[in-house]
Amino acid sequence: MNTFTLAIHGGAGTILRADMTAEKEAGYRHALDTALLAGYTILEKGGSSIQAVQAAVMALEDDIHFNAGKGSVFGKDGRHEMDASIMDGSNLMAGAVAAVRNIRNPVELAYTIMTKSPHVMLIGQGAKEFALQQGLATEPDEYFFSAFRYEQWKQMQGSDAIALDHNVKVTTPETSGDGKKYGTVGAVALDIHGNIAAATSTGGMTNKQFGRVGDSPIIGAGTYANNKTCAISCTGHGEPFIRAVTAYDVSCLMEYKGLSLEKAMQVVVHDKLMKIEGEGGMIGVDASGNVALVFNSDGMYRGMKTSDGRYAVAIYK
Ligand code: ASP
Repeated sequence: MNTFTLAIHGGAGTILRADMTAEKEAGYRHALDTALLAGYTILEKGGSSIQAVQAAVMALEDDIHFNAGKGSVFGKDGRHEMDASIMDGSNLMAGAVAAVRNIRNPVELAYTIMTKSPHVMLIGQGAKEFALQQGLATEPDEYFFSAFRYEQWKQMQGSDAIALDHNVKVTTPETSGDGKKYGTVGAVALDIHGNIAAATSTGGMTNKQFGRVGDSPIIGAGTYANNKTCAISCTGHGEPFIRAVTAYDVSCLMEYKGLSLEKAMQVVVHDKLMKIEGEGGMIGVDASGNVALVFNSDGMYRGMKTSDGRYAVAIYK
């Protein structure tokens, strides 16, 4: 079997057609297409799924449209703290990083932790020191700034509320009244060698407590990959996603109950998460080339491209 598959997401939330202009929509679609191309090109040349998901997520981190890397949301202290993770389904190796500042591509740091350290997860200052030792790129605070997300945060500043960045409505020249956009990013892939992988990266939730860690860097919650079952990347309200051990639950339903990828994702997203107010969604692939993009919110920025000609970029329900 020589097929390959890539799927990506740019976050889920209250994303409504009524809030979108043709121009804005074209901007998101272009950003998603660029990330799909970055990952797909690697798979097409026979590259590995782990390289493909990393490349796709780095493209999304570099795009200010999304709440990851450049354009990350603001925490309670007015600064950016980012989380990311990556997992290789061929050997169950994983890398993760939490609450890091000034790292240009947190997913690259997660990959480097996986491949160049004996650890799975590094956080905060220790993660940053490791990144510097490894020669990874850092950026000043201004690099991560976006006027749109600054306004989102200003609306919530001083309160204890936290929010998915799509769900805070603000009006700035940059958004023209559309505050319900942008988000956490992720990718899942199957390569020609039959290996699957997943990666996720985020700035977290707007106005989050300094030191708060969401589901995105937690292996088994926001990200999971195992050749025997599936590769999953999640987006949504991190706390319920952690409590539901979301990504691993999909794998368990496949492994122990024999559910298909799509069915397992439907059960977790529409039943289990809904019962604990877990708004959001996920993307998944399996080693047979099945792919699914499932969410319980109004929308999820998403895309997929497969070697057998399936291609889609979509935003709304
Ligand atoms: N899951 C992320 C978090 O809770 C947020 C998101 O997906 O947009 O940090």
